[in-house]
Amino acid sequence: MKKRIAILGSTGSIGTQALAVIQQQCERFEVTVLTAHSNADLLIRQALQYRPKAVVIGDEKEYRQVKEALSAYSIDVTTGATAVEQIVELDVIDTVLTAIVGSAGLAPTVRAIRAKKNIALANKETLVVAGALITQLVKEHNVALYPIDSEHSAIFQCLVGENPTTVEKILLTGSGGPFRGKTQSELATVTPQQALKHPTWEMGRKITIDSASLMNKGLEVIEARWLFEVDFNRIEVVIHPQSIIHSMVQFTDGSIKAQMGLPDMKLPIQYALTYPERLHTSFPRLTFDQYNQLTFEKPDTQTFRNLALAYHAGEKGGNCPCILNAANEIAVSAFLDNRIGFLQMSDLIEKCINTIAFNRNPSMEDLLATDLETRQFAIHYLKHFNTTSL
Ligand code: NAD
Ligand code: MG
Repeated sequence: MKKRIAILGSTGSIGTQALAVIQQQCERFEVTVLTAHSNADLLIRQALQYRPKAVVIGDEKEYRQVKEALSAYSIDVTTGATAVEQIVELDVIDTVLTAIVGSAGLAPTVRAIRAKKNIALANKETLVVAGALITQLVKEHNVALYPIDSEHSAIFQCLVGENPTTVEKILLTGSGGPFRGKTQSELATVTPQQALKHPTWEMGRKITIDSASLMNKGLEVIEARWLFEVDFNRIEVVIHPQSIIHSMVQFTDGSIKAQMGLPDMKLPIQYALTYPERLHTSFPRLTFDQYNQLTFEKPDTQTFRNLALAYHAGEKGGNCPCILNAANEIAVSAFLDNRIGFLQMSDLIEKCINTIAFNRNPSMEDLLATDLETRQFAIHYLKHFNTTSL
């Protein structure tokens, strides 16, 4: 029987690559649900090609267009944020692949786990905001949570066949982004266009800015803490500009395992969908004459303060990572709109962490309230204060 997949965020970078993987492995997988936020044209094309049972267009303004275009087919079309949450409960789904960007991915993921669906997780923000509650829910409902993020897939692959108690350290690699080696004064004037030019990966806009500011690595440290149940002092970030080693695990005997390959998200996407099997692919292969030098550096957390802020938030725990994430989402969108400079993103995040009330043991409702409160505070702050005073 084919595995039935729902893709949340099918029109994005991960969503479209997930569909490419499924198309290659169409005898094993069937797409039963697709959701998108506002790209109605692409959602319609995907629906006509993959013929899912249901699609959701998040943005209500786009509903009519999608509904009309698919009216001749037996595809259920709904709209709105609540519809995205409800759709994951359909019986025709085995695995929900979460490729939504930002904390909007949290609520549908919770609903999917409660409905006993396995999760292929690209939406790292879900684990950053609510890692403790999500991992607890996963255990309670006895579902699987497979990582798609390339670093976490690498760690997951290194851990196959190993006893988790023999893990000494996780070495999380990152390219360092387009601004590696730059000073604070150089960073003060960088533009969104420069930040959007990632040296090794092509991704959505938000994660590309996060990669330039090293917030992406910070979010990944928190994601790794929950996925692999390893304390923050045993997760080390290693800057590796070539993006060939996707991460490593060091064991208690001193041995280090690394997972390598050319940077291509289709591989971790496929592994998350087929685990424990490895399927043949025709992806280009890594050759060592092409990559004869792999280099490694320590991250510069004085210049790239977001990484330090993320470690701080992760170690503090409670609702602090949720504050970090919500503040970062507002900061990234303000930077992309040229409303604040690159360095002011860290200033805004720090301001939010120092302002929003700390809650050591938040419930899911508390986290949703923290997320909203932080966004409102950050938006108000950016509107009413000259950003130079940040
Ligand atoms: P993207 O911006 O390319 O796509 C986002 C998708 O989510 C789109 O389909 C969009 O319609 C949908 N979406 C956006 N806002 C939404 C909302 N409020 N409600 C419902 N749907 C919404 O993003 P991406 O680069 O594909 O990243 C998706 C997730 O995967 C992120 O959490 C990112 O951190 C993670 N991730 C991405 C990559 C990558 O290579 N792109 C690698 C690792 C992890
Ligand atoms: Mg990653």
